[in-house]
Amino acid sequence: MATAVRVHTTIDGFRRALAEHRSGGATIGFVPTMGYLHDGHASLMRAAASSDDVAVASIFVNPLQFAATEDLGTYPRDLERDLAIAEESGVREMLHPDVAEMYPTPVLTTVTVSGVTSRFEGAARPEHFAGVATVVTKLFSITGACRAYFGEKDYQQLAVVRRLAADLSMPVEVVGCPTVREHDGLAMSSRNVYLSDGQRQAAPVLYRAMVEAAGAARGGNRSVDDLRAVMHERITRTPGVDSVDYAEIVDADTLEDVTEVGGRQRILVAARFGSTRLLDNIALDTPPAG
Ligand code: AMP
Repeated sequence: MATAVRVHTTIDGFRRALAEHRSGGATIGFVPTMGYLHDGHASLMRAAASSDDVAVASIFVNPLQFAATEDLGTYPRDLERDLAIAEESGVREMLHPDVAEMYPTPVLTTVTVSGVTSRFEGAARPEHFAGVATVVTKLFSITGACRAYFGEKDYQQLAVVRRLAADLSMPVEVVGCPTVREHDGLAMSSRNVYLSDGQRQAAPVLYRAMVEAAGAARGGNRSVDDLRAVMHERITRTPGVDSVDYAEIVDADTLEDVTEVGGRQRILVAARFGSTRLLDNIALDTPPAG
């Protein structure tokens, strides 16, 4: 039987609970989320519970990372169900603050990470990563030394958080965890509930297009231009897809452009299905060019 998860609506209460665990010598594994949990979130929680002595998490829909036109007001929420999933996944302490607790006064201090934020999600959502970096800095400051678990599903975010923790010498080891998918390949996401039936049927094309491109790359096609075109074509001709934001192959660490397949690379895609934007990515590891 899982130990009951304790819910803290105050920063202070969460800090005190963690201090208690630490006084007994326990290591902390931390999983920040925006709630509406699915098996992707649960996999991070299970990883924290198995690698650290005490798994803790947060549920906070962070207004700073949403633009005025985005879905902050309608972002799906279900606290009761979330707590059951967290508990079953081994989480012992949950921080669930409201906006006034996290941001009691208008925020004058924000954190920005440059370079790795300039393209892809950063280009599509200009304020997004400053909002993410600011809340993650705050959550790391609240939680203290820990291992923090993030999904590869949001690959650019993972790169941003790694850079943030390294640049600011935070006492946090950032752990990336594999993307959990539905049976048809669609990456699990809280936003999948926005999809109509037709859009839901179309959505796995993102994964299929990337797998197809990776297969062609392994079969010897080393031209990034070709592979990009294959993915665009496959995704745009699928009914239910409105537009492709990007379908790219980049260096897996720097997220910079490459012209030829070879070495540790990543395929990144984002596309619009009506007003819902979905992103996905997979590894592309092939022998170095040359
Ligand atoms: P979110 O609640 O969307 O902010 O996500 C919280 C954490 O869960 C982030 O580190 C995400 O990358 C991760 N996550 C979201 N979806 C998945 C998934 N399908 N597989 C693995 N991790 C995920």
